[in-house]
Amino acid sequence: MNRFAFARPADLAEAVREAAADPGARFIAGGTNLVDLLKYDVERPSRLIDLTRLPGLNTIEETAEGGLRIGALVTNTEIAHDARVEKTYPLLASAILAGASPQLRNAASTGGNLLQRTRCYYFYDTGTACNKRVPGTGCPAIGGVNRIHAILGASEHCIATHPSDMCVALAALAATVHVTGPEGERAIPFAEFHRLPGDHPEIDTTLRHGEIAVAVELPAQGFASHHTYLKLRDRLSYAFALVSVAVGLEMDGGRVGQARIALGGVAHKPWRDTAAEDGLRGQKANAESFAALADQILASAVGYAHNAFKIGLARRAIVRALSQAAAGTPQSQTDKRIR
Ligand SMILES: Cc1cc2nc3c(=O)[nH]c(=O)nc-3n(C[C@H](O)[C@H](O)[C@H](O)COP(=O)(O)OP(=O)(O)OC[C@H]3O[C@@H](n4cnc5c(N)ncnc54)[C@H](O)[C@@H]3O)c2cc1C
Ligand code: SF4
Repeated sequence: MNRFAFARPADLAEAVREAAADPGARFIAGGTNLVDLLKYDVERPSRLIDLTRLPGLNTIEETAEGGLRIGALVTNTEIAHDARVEKTYPLLASAILAGASPQLRNAASTGGNLLQRTRCYYFYDTGTACNKRVPGTGCPAIGGVNRIHAILGASEHCIATHPSDMCVALAALAATVHVTGPEGERAIPFAEFHRLPGDHPEIDTTLRHGEIAVAVELPAQGFASHHTYLKLRDRLSYAFALVSVAVGLEMDGGRVGQARIALGGVAHKPWRDTAAEDGLRGQKANAESFAALADQILASAVGYAHNAFKIGLARRAIVRALSQAAAGTPQSQTDKRIR
C-alpha cells in the first residue's frame, strides 16, 4: 500500500500552491486513467490534488473571437452533446463519441483527456522495463509486442502512442490549451502541447510541474460542412484507435480551399504535417491528390514487427477520410448509431 496525502483545494491558486510545494503531487479529475495507474503501481504520488471542486472550470463559453472556451472539468459527454459544439465543431463531437464508453465519457474530463497516459502494455506492467515509467531501463516494445505502437516520430527510447480521440480533433481544429501554474498563466498552441518521445519519453507534454490545464479554446473555424473523424480499431466500440484520422476541409468548388488533417494512434502525439496540408490547397478533391497527400504524410513512417500494417492502413484511412469530408459525408453519422 502506497500512502499518499489527499487535498481538495477551494480555488486554483490553492491547487497550484499545493502542487508546487510537493514534487510528488499529482492532480486528479475524473480518475478514469489515474486510478488505474495507482492500482497498477505505475503512479506512486505522495499527494493527490482533487481538481473536481474548483470553481469556474466546468463551463463552455463563447469567446469574443467567435470560438468556444471549454473548461478543464467539462466532461467528454457534456462537450459532445453541447448544441454549439454539435453545430460548429461536429468533428470534435464525433471524435469524442468514438472514444471509450458512455460511462467513461460521463466521468472523463477535458483536462484529464489531454493528460491521459499511453496504453502501451509494458508501461502498465511494472514487471517489465519501460523508459517512460522508469527512465533508462529500456524499451521492450521495440523488440517485443508492438501492434499498437507508433509508426511516426518515435525514438530509440520509446515507440508509444498517445491514445486520445478528442486530442486528434483538437489538433485538426488548431485549439489552444490555457494553463495556470506557479509562474502564472500561459496559452499553448495544441501542436506544442504534446511532445515526441526523443531522449525523454517520460515527459508526455510541455506542461510544467504544478501547472493546471484550465481550458481548451477553439478558434471560430469549425469545418462543420466538410469534416470526418474516422477511427479504425480492433472492435467497433470501446477500443482505442489503431489509426484515426480527423479531417476538416474548406471546399472551393471541386477543389480544396483549406485542409486540416490530424492522425491518431500513430505517434506519441496527434500527428499533423502542415506542409502536406498546405500542398493540398488548390488541388482537385479526388483520390489521386488525396493519395499523394497520404504518401507525403507517411513518407517517414517506420513499422516494427507487428505494426507495419498501420502504414498501409493509415494511407487508406487518410484517403477515405478526405473523400468523405470533401463529399460532406461525416463519419459521425456512423458514430451516432453506435454511441
Ligand atoms: C477502458 C477504457 C477505455 C478508454 N477508451 C478510450 C478511447 O477509446 N478513446 C479515448 O480518447 N480515451 C479512452 N479512454 C481514456 C479516457 O478518455 C481517459 O481516461 C479520460 O479522458 C481521462 O480523464 P479523467 O478526467 O478521468 O482524468 P484522470 O484520470 O483524473 O487524470 C488523468 C491525468 O490527467 C492529469 N490531469 C487531470 N486533469 C488535469 C488538469 N486539469 N490539469 C493538469 N493535469 C490534469 C492527472 O494528473 C492524470 O495524470 C479509455 C479509458 C478506459 C479506462
Ligand atoms: S514504447 Fe514507451 S511506454 Fe512502451 S515500453 Fe517502450 S518506453 Fe515504455
